[in-house]
Amino acid sequence: MAVTRFAPSPTGYLHIGGLRTALYSYLWAKKTGGDFKLRIEDTDQARNSEDAVKAILEAFEWVGMPSDCEIEYQSKRTDIYKKYIDQLLEEGKAYKCYMSREELDALRAAQEAAKQTPRYNGTWRPEEGKTLPEIPEGIEPVIRIKAPTEGKIEFEDGVKGSMKFGADQVDDFVIARANGMPIYNFVVAIDDHLMGITDVLRGDDHLSNTPKQIVIYNALGFDVPKFYHIPMINNPQGKKLSKRDGAMDVMQYKRDGYLPEALLNFLVRLGWSNGDQEIFSIDEMLELFNPNNINKSASAYNAEKLLWLNAHYIKNVSNDRLSKELEDFDCVLSGHDKKEMILDLCKERAQTIIELKDAINNILEVPTSYEQSGVKKFVKEDTAEMLNNYLSVLEANKDSLHIAPDYEEVTKPFIEENGLKFPQLFQPIRIALTGGTQAPSVYDIEAILGFDEVKSRIETAIKANFGIEKA
Ligand code: GLU
Repeated sequence: MAVTRFAPSPTGYLHIGGLRTALYSYLWAKKTGGDFKLRIEDTDQARNSEDAVKAILEAFEWVGMPSDCEIEYQSKRTDIYKKYIDQLLEEGKAYKCYMSREELDALRAAQEAAKQTPRYNGTWRPEEGKTLPEIPEGIEPVIRIKAPTEGKIEFEDGVKGSMKFGADQVDDFVIARANGMPIYNFVVAIDDHLMGITDVLRGDDHLSNTPKQIVIYNALGFDVPKFYHIPMINNPQGKKLSKRDGAMDVMQYKRDGYLPEALLNFLVRLGWSNGDQEIFSIDEMLELFNPNNINKSASAYNAEKLLWLNAHYIKNVSNDRLSKELEDFDCVLSGHDKKEMILDLCKERAQTIIELKDAINNILEVPTSYEQSGVKKFVKEDTAEMLNNYLSVLEANKDSLHIAPDYEEVTKPFIEENGLKFPQLFQPIRIALTGGTQAPSVYDIEAILGFDEVKSRIETAIKANFGIEKA
């Protein structure tokens, strides 16, 4: 059983890299019968915002991955952190350091000049038999952890394999600032332990934090969780994903007409695979996902793939679901007697909910103008007469016209008897009914609109002479 967490810092919206980490964490917890927990890492007061917290939670609600515990906020846990800092001080595993900013700057400059990696030099580190400097006046100390000075910090990363960091790569880093505020790597370790986290999945940009957190776990005698460091998502050129490439707010995908199922399916495949399978329902993800199969190398964002997946889900979710989604785009179909027919038709070609809405409006809205390039090509002198004759045929069969094949049954003989070519009849009808030539099958549109509306639109177009301006 794995207990996992997602721990965003609310410095901005949730972007898709974060959502992918959350998805992997969620899947792994649920697959193993464990819990998925959310923690808001909001200790950096200068950079955090409540709006960002709201935006993050809104995104989780949209994709349907709720936290199994009450959401933890680090800003509300200062007392807990303080207790552990005091404990480490008492046990001699952490100590107060009174070095001033100037001294630290001078130390760093000297180390850099000697081409050494900057690290704390242990001035205030207590050791047996060592006399510490006299405590200076007017300096509030920071608290440093007593990190091991020799040996290795090792762990088995579920993605990257065996990881080894020499003790020289972790110095006695600060765990609490002079104002008492604990620092990031300290609180993460405390929280992960207290929240019972067994498996930490996070971006590999955090890899260098892990040995520091292990030092904390060890100092406090906590079990070290299993780590999975997930490679980044790059743009198709292999560079860091920018906003323009798609590294945007998860909710922007909703505003752009994506379904959450499509986005999650897209993300599960960005960095993980099961053979060459592309479509994964959440149930299938739960069955098949295993973080040990996460790719070792970075993945590339592919906007076309996301569109393709979205089109797939639009075709495959229920019409009720689509009409609900459409309502968020002010397209209300409930109560329309041809709702099913409209959706069955329009969803076949739509890649986003916005395209679906446009396709629907293209049929339902009475055209206000006629596309003149199409008119020029397809509306001839005898077109009006042909359309009037066609309307008479429809009218004669009016009572038997319900679904698209009914229209086809009366239209085909009309085409044959008059020796017409399909576009000769269909394109002027498309223009009359929708204003343009890019529309689905005429029979489908006719069935959706019904005879009276078809008649009215065709007659209106004839009357307006298809918008052709008189010379
Ligand atoms: N708060 C960190 C971030 O937003 C995540 C920390 C972690 O997953 O350990 O990048």
